[in-house]
Amino acid sequence: RYAKQSYDDHAYYGDEIQEERIQELFLEKELRIAIERKDLHVHYQPKINSRYNSLAGLEALVRWRHAEKGMVPPGVFIPIAERNGLIVPLERIVFEEVCQDIASLLNKGQLIKRVSVNISQIHLYQEDFSQFIISCLKKYNIHPTAIELEITESVIMMDDLNVIQRLEHLKEMGVEISMDDFGTGYSSLSYINKLPIDRIKIDKSFIDQIEIDEQYQTIIKTIVSMARHLRLEVIAEGVETEKQMLFLKSVNCFHIQGYFYYAPMTFEKVRELLYSEELLKEPAVN
Ligand code: C2E
Ligand code: MG
Ligand code: MG
Ligand code: MG
Repeated sequence: RYAKQSYDDHAYYGDEIQEERIQELFLEKELRIAIERKDLHVHYQPKINSRYNSLAGLEALVRWRHAEKGMVPPGVFIPIAERNGLIVPLERIVFEEVCQDIASLLNKGQLIKRVSVNISQIHLYQEDFSQFIISCLKKYNIHPTAIELEITESVIMMDDLNVIQRLEHLKEMGVEISMDDFGTGYSSLSYINKLPIDRIKIDKSFIDQIEIDEQYQTIIKTIVSMARHLRLEVIAEGVETEKQMLFLKSVNCFHIQGYFYYAPMTFEKVRELLYSEELLKEPAVN
């Protein structure tokens, strides 16, 4: 292959693209089967309030274990699913499993905080999106205040009135909405006011820079204070070190998600965590 590249660059890159395409078609075929069999799982990552070391919420993250390939990361199969429409049935399986899990916690009298679910803009385009969410909640007897939807900045760019109405409808019922990966898209905080957003999640790429580039400390500080003025809550994602956590605390960003506290874990582990004394159950004030 090396020799080939030296005298025929085009053929070389052509092969690479071809290989990627074959891989994508393979994964697409396998993902379709996994969805049919509901062979997907949900892991949960705790969100922590660093002031009290208490649980602030959980984020549901889809997991797909392929028989031969092993774990396929969502960063690989979600974009594929978004290209071929599989994202809608996929997210409905995820949402139903989340509802089942919440119901099972409630059955055992375990106090839980909101569970957030990632929703692709393609799913928001579906006419029956809010009906699906509402009927699924009813099926498992779950109050909408148990749910948060994480959407991305691309939703603002769509500027679709139907999508905004769907989100507003759900919000009126008690569902909360957060802007995921904030800072990676093109939107500004003032733009966000067009959508019924409760919270922004500062993207990991900003957090990664805290200890490297002081300018990012200023940027984060500014984001937090502007969000406050707009009555938006703030959470930092991808926090890996104590220094990052302490910096965020110093600029009044108390809600933290990241490996510094917990990586995503199975539902069984979440249940154990809720039973354990590891986290403070009820903070005096939120
Ligand atoms: P996201 O929604 O921004 O989720 C956070 C991702 O960062 C998760 O990766 C999580 O495991 C990872 N993470 C959390 N804390 C840390 C940390 O401290 N260090 C590092 N290095 N990583 C951390 P994951 O589970 O691989 O998911 C990747 C992305 O896939 C998610 O990013 C989300 O955009 C997407 N995704 C996952 N599940 C779903 C789903 O059900 N629907 C949709 N549309 N997207 C999903
Ligand atoms: Mg998310
Ligand atoms: Mg995120
Ligand atoms: Mg992210």
